[in-house]
Amino acid sequence: MPDTLTSSVSDVVELTRALVRCESVTPAEGGALQLLERTLGTLGFRCERMDFTQAGTDDVANLYARIGQGPHEGGKHFCFAGHSDVVPVGDLSSWTIGPFSAELSAGYLFGRGAADMKGAIAAFTEACARFLAKRGGDFGGAISLLITGDEEGPAINGTVKMLKRLADRGETIDACIVGEPTSSRRFGDMMKIGRRGSMTVDLVVRGIQGHVAYPERLDNAVHRLSAIIEALVREPIDKGSTHFQPTSLQFTTVDVGNKATNIAPGTARARFNTRFNDLWTSKTLLAHLQERIERATAAVGGNGTIEYKVEVSGESFYTPPGPLSELVAGAVRDVVGVECELSTTGGTSDARFICSYCPVLEFGLVGETMHKVDEKSAVADLKALARVYETVLDRYFAA
Ligand SMILES: [Zn+2]
Repeated sequence: MPDTLTSSVSDVVELTRALVRCESVTPAEGGALQLLERTLGTLGFRCERMDFTQAGTDDVANLYARIGQGPHEGGKHFCFAGHSDVVPVGDLSSWTIGPFSAELSAGYLFGRGAADMKGAIAAFTEACARFLAKRGGDFGGAISLLITGDEEGPAINGTVKMLKRLADRGETIDACIVGEPTSSRRFGDMMKIGRRGSMTVDLVVRGIQGHVAYPERLDNAVHRLSAIIEALVREPIDKGSTHFQPTSLQFTTVDVGNKATNIAPGTARARFNTRFNDLWTSKTLLAHLQERIERATAAVGGNGTIEYKVEVSGESFYTPPGPLSELVAGAVRDVVGVECELSTTGGTSDARFICSYCPVLEFGLVGETMHKVDEKSAVADLKALARVYETVLDRYFAA
C-alpha cells in the first residue's frame, strides 16, 4: 500500500474533515457516502449502494462495503455499523465556527458530525487501512462497513433494510461495533452493551366543554388530563434491573389552546416519551400505563374518553458481557490506559436492530457535544479511536 494512501486519503483527521464538509443532514446524502465509497474502494473494499425507498418516507442512500472472503467462503465477519447522516445545525448564529467548515482549533475538530459520528467512520476506515497494510486483503475473514444515511431520521430505509438484504442472501455477521459516541467524560471510559427502548404516546383527552360558571354541566378535560399526568409521574415505573437504570417517563407537551377565560375546555392533548428497560416490552409497558390512566380517570368521574397514538421507536436491547465487550475493553485499556465501563444508559441507536443478528456493542468518541452547537472531537481522541479499532481488528483476526 502506498504511503500516501494511509497518510492522507484514509487519515482519520483529514477524512473526518472531508466528511464533515459533506452536508448530509438526514435524509440528504451530501456526498458523504460517495466520498466513503471512493476511499474504501481505494483500500480494496467492494462497495455496494443499498438505497431504499418507501411510500411516505424520504428516499435514503446507504453504503455496504466489504473486504476479505466472500459471503459464503467461511471465516469470521466483523462489521462496523455507522451513520453518515447528521442532525440539523439548529441555531446557526450560536455556532462560533461554521458547522460544515471542519475547522481545527485548540486541538479540536469542530463541526456537525465530528462526534456523532463521522469521526468514528473515519477512525474505522483508518483502522482498516492500517490492518490491511499489515495483513493484506486475504486475512482469513471479512470486514465490512454498514453505513446508513437514515439513523437520525425515521430509521425506516436504513439499517433495518440493509440487514434484511444481507440475511436474505445468506450473508451473516459474527460481531459488530456501532461507532456511536459512547465515551462519557474522557475518551474510552464507556461503551454501551444495551440501550433502553423508546416509546412516545400522544393522548387526546375528551370531556365536555362548558361555561366555567356552570361546573355541573361540563367535564373539564384539563382536570382529567392533570389526573392522568399525576398518575403517570407520581410513582416510579420500576426500580431498574441488573443492567439498566429505572424506566423514565417525561411529558414533553401539554396543549389546550383555549383563549377564552370563561370556557372550560372539552379537549386537552398531551404527549409523553418513555425510555424503558429490559423489564418491559413496549406492549407490557403500555398496558401498565393504561391501567394507571384508567384508575386515575375513574377517580375523577365523568364519562370522558381518551385516545392513544403510540409510536415505538425501539425495544430495549442487551448483549451480555462476553468476548466482544472484553475485546473492546482490552483494546481501550492497552491503547489509552482507561477502564471502559459497560453501560446501558442514553438514547436508542441502530444497535437495537443489529442485536437480533449478532453480538453488538457501541463504542466511539466522547458524546458530550453531540447534537449541540459547536459539536467537536479532540484530534487526539480521533487518533486514539483509530488505534482502538485497529487493535480490535488485529486481535479479532489474530493470525
Ligand atoms: Zn449517532
